[in-house]
Amino acid sequence: MTRMLIIGPPGSGKGTQAERISERIGVVAISTGDIFRRNVKEATPLGLEAKKFIDGGDFVPDDVTNRMVRDRLEQEDAVDGFLLDGYPRTADQVRELDDILAASGHSLDIVLQLTADDEELVSRLKRRAELDGRTDDTEEVIRHRLELYRGQTHAVVAEYDSRGMVTRVDGLGDIDEVTDRVMKSLAKVQ
Ligand code: AMP
Repeated sequence: MTRMLIIGPPGSGKGTQAERISERIGVVAISTGDIFRRNVKEATPLGLEAKKFIDGGDFVPDDVTNRMVRDRLEQEDAVDGFLLDGYPRTADQVRELDDILAASGHSLDIVLQLTADDEELVSRLKRRAELDGRTDDTEEVIRHRLELYRGQTHAVVAEYDSRGMVTRVDGLGDIDEVTDRVMKSLAKVQ
């Protein structure tokens, strides 16, 4: 299991789980949200371009996001495997990832979807906003991000479902419990 995606609504704990799973299976976790946030903080040209979309809870345009992921996946530490967190989120990004993988003669092994109820997600995200002061964690922006997730990302999951690649895990509950659930479902698929 070396090339994986993790998909889940904002607040489902996918970032935390991605870090833990990547350590256990020995591949690098790549979070597009983290890369964007780092670029915003460092005020790089990419960050300046992405900031207004991120602050409004909108997707950064596909061409910008695709270019960034292509560059990242070409780096040495991702050549033998990766766990992508937060990408692809649109049908265009699915096609781009297919192209990137086909060009290197690889394919995805599994798409892991973390599931969670909207109201639980909103309250989790509001708690997180108080803790880390993220600019996109206000209730209005949170609800918008959830809508976008349900709308656009749905097509992404449907596509991978049609390829028979999606494994679903309940993302609610204690962090360790969710990691155990994920590792058990990965073991079943292997
Ligand atoms: P996340 O940390 O995954 O919730 O991402 C935070 C924000 O980064 C999102 O609300 C988007 O503005 C942007 N972002 C992250 N990944 C993508 C992506 N694959 N496509 C477009 N925008 C993204």
